Amino acid sequence: MKWTNPGHEYDQAYQSIESKKAFYLFGAGDYGNQFIKILKDEIRVLGYIDNDEEKQGKDINGLPCLSLAEAMENINDHTGIIITMSQIARIEPITQLKKLGMHQDVDYYLIEEFLSVYYMYKYGKLYMSTISFLPSTTCNLNCRHCLNFNPFADHFYNRDWDELVRDIDLFFSWVDRIMLFHVSGGEPLLYKYTADVIEYLDRKYGGRIDTLRTVTNGTVIPTDEVLQKLARCKVEFTVDDYRDAVPKYRDNLDILTKKFDEYGIKYWVNKVGGWIDLAPERTDYSNLSTIQLIRHRDSCTQSWQELRDGKIYSCNYAAYAQVAGLSGEQDLEETFDLSHCKQASLDDKKKLVEFRLGYTSKGYTEFCKTCRGFKIDNNIDVEPAIQVERGKL
Ligand code: SF4
Repeated sequence: MKWTNPGHEYDQAYQSIESKKAFYLFGAGDYGNQFIKILKDEIRVLGYIDNDEEKQGKDINGLPCLSLAEAMENINDHTGIIITMSQIARIEPITQLKKLGMHQDVDYYLIEEFLSVYYMYKYGKLYMSTISFLPSTTCNLNCRHCLNFNPFADHFYNRDWDELVRDIDLFFSWVDRIMLFHVSGGEPLLYKYTADVIEYLDRKYGGRIDTLRTVTNGTVIPTDEVLQKLARCKVEFTVDDYRDAVPKYRDNLDILTKKFDEYGIKYWVNKVGGWIDLAPERTDYSNLSTIQLIRHRDSCTQSWQELRDGKIYSCNYAAYAQVAGLSGEQDLEETFDLSHCKQASLDDKKKLVEFRLGYTSKGYTEFCKTCRGFKIDNNIDVEPAIQVERGKL
């Protein structure tokens, strides 16, 4: 989205939130659960909506879970819907709501918008939904559709400890609280400072992080020293299950999860169903007009941003593409510079909320010119973790 009224882009959205007496949460999964924990004492939640028939009719966190059609019977102008789903999963619900004539920030809200706008306007606090922090792209796999674009890069990118600490401290000088701080990769268990980064985050900012999470591809067994460090922290691991794609590491996932059990490290195994192909080597939107590029970006539901080098990057995949050498120099208009002021004012923080929710001066990234995006017409899964030989793309 292109900024037109910086500092005031969400004035009307907040008025709309304030006019609602109750809400449904569309999505009874991880995000829905996290949302309930955070806001159950702030707003009235009537129940969940979920397209999964197995969840419909059940009580989840003490709330009924309904189909959209059932919930619609109770929805009026004073009832809002909050979409509590990931950027891929939310494509379908948003399409359903639009077909019913509903509008974003009037009838329904995205989880990250709701959290940040509500806390900023009501309490003057910067509550961010998520941030991606990528200390290293080093990985032992070389996946065809890697969203770090590793197969395109001629070397891995590893950050120094001092830079990491500087970024973390700067980030928390702006942000009061965050729902999910994600330490990502590469393969985080191959990077020498991952456990130290997690320990630093947990010790210094744990009280302001609702969920501190990292991920592993399930093929690497950390040392006991690393496991001991992790066990002291409130951190959880997503263990991606790529055993079908990389059978040579098949046994490692069981060894790893047994180690996590032994050390009391929280994890969940993610049986990865499908990935998305952003197809940067096969698409070319560079002949689109500026307005068309802004529309292309606006119709992409990608919502992750990256913290790096004292800045937040408006699309983390665009930032990864730049690191991989796929999209030339990063345009500074695609970033929010956290180091530009010593003490952020309320107005600065409102602008960061807007940036984090997708507003930039330009309205798109350079990488949007070659990226298909997270869109309804790019909603076809590709097989996860298909391996390619290094240097072959
Ligand atoms: S189209 Fe691609 S580069 Fe542009 S915002 Fe979406 S994921 Fe990022």
